[in-house]
Amino acid sequence: MNDIKENIESCKSLFNRCYSPYSKFNVVTVLVCKNKKYYGVNVENCSYSLTICAETNCLSNAVSDGLNFDDALYMIVTTNTADEITPCGSCRQFMAEFLPKNFNVHTMGNNAIVNTYQVKDLIPYTFIK
Ligand SMILES: [Zn+2]
Repeated sequence: MNDIKENIESCKSLFNRCYSPYSKFNVVTVLVCKNKKYYGVNVENCSYSLTICAETNCLSNAVSDGLNFDDALYMIVTTNTADEITPCGSCRQFMAEFLPKNFNVHTMGNNAIVNTYQVKDLIPYTFIK
């Protein structure tokens, strides 16, 4: 259940759930937890600014389910691009709200290269209320 390669493959099998008729850019994210996984896909809208990113969708699913984020182990972000794409600034801030600074985020495109970042690397100067 916690194997990174297995979870990458499960993400890739969900590219067909992305709603990306405008960009054809598919993103699938999984938050792997001790006993459960939460997925998110990008959901575009013809009014582009209303698009929901996969990472935000994934974390929102976990919040909606009442996840205790202490049980979260790592996150994977997969895209249908050749190279990895790192999360956008908005998603980085969203991650910082729920995930610890040293939390691992693995990214991967179609080239099979897995890169790993920690939340503190993705957003070193988090907005704090
Ligand atoms: Zn985003």
